[in-house]
Amino acid sequence: MTVRSVLALGSNLGERGDTLSLAVADLVDTPHVRLREVSPVVQTRPVGGPAGQPDYLNMVIEVETDLSPFELLAHCQAVENKHHRVREVRWGPRTLDIDIITYGDLVMEDERLTLPHPRASGRAFVLQPWAWMDSAATLNGVPVGELAAAAADLDGLEPFEPGN
Ligand code: ATP
Ligand code: MG
Ligand code: MG
Repeated sequence: MTVRSVLALGSNLGERGDTLSLAVADLVDTPHVRLREVSPVVQTRPVGGPAGQPDYLNMVIEVETDLSPFELLAHCQAVENKHHRVREVRWGPRTLDIDIITYGDLVMEDERLTLPHPRASGRAFVLQPWAWMDSAATLNGVPVGELAAAAADLDGLEPFEPGN
C-alpha cells in the first residue's frame, strides 16, 4: 500500500538552495519514496527562535511512499543528519529541517510524531508553496491557500530567485 505525504523543507544556513535540491534528491533516492510534486522555493523571514537569524528558503514536496509514518520520519531525519543538521537552540538556525506535514489522511499524536504537523496550519512558509504546488490541497478540511492568506508570516514571504 502506498500513501501520499507532504513534506516541508527549510534551510537558513550555508548554501540554502543547493541544500534543498540535494535533500529532495536524497529523500527520493530509495525505491520506497517517489516524487510526485515539487513546489516553488520561497524566501521567508524566520518565525520564532532567537532574534537575528538569517532568512529561510522553504519548499514543500509531495511524495508517494510505502514507508510507515515512523519509517518516513526516520528517513527524513537521516537526510537532515546527512546535511549536518545540528540540534542546538529550539527553532534556531539550521542547515536543513524536514517536517512531515501530512501522511495520507492519518491523524495521530505521539511525542515523536504528530500528524498533520501541529503548527503547519498557521505557517505561510509551508502553506503558500503548498498552495502553488497543488491548488486543490486542503489541510484539516480547509483549502491551504485560504490558510496561507490568513497566516501572520505571509508578509515576509517572496518567491526566491536564485542569484538574489
Ligand atoms: P517545528 O516542529 O515547530 O517545525 P522543528 O522542525 O525545528 O520545529 P525539530 O527539532 O526538527 O523541530 O523536531 C523536533 C521533534 O519534532 C522531532 O524530534 C520529531 O520527533 C518531532 N515531530 C513531531 N511531529 C513531527 C512531524 N510531523 N514532522 C517532523 N517531526 C515531528
Ligand atoms: Mg520545522
Ligand atoms: Mg523539524
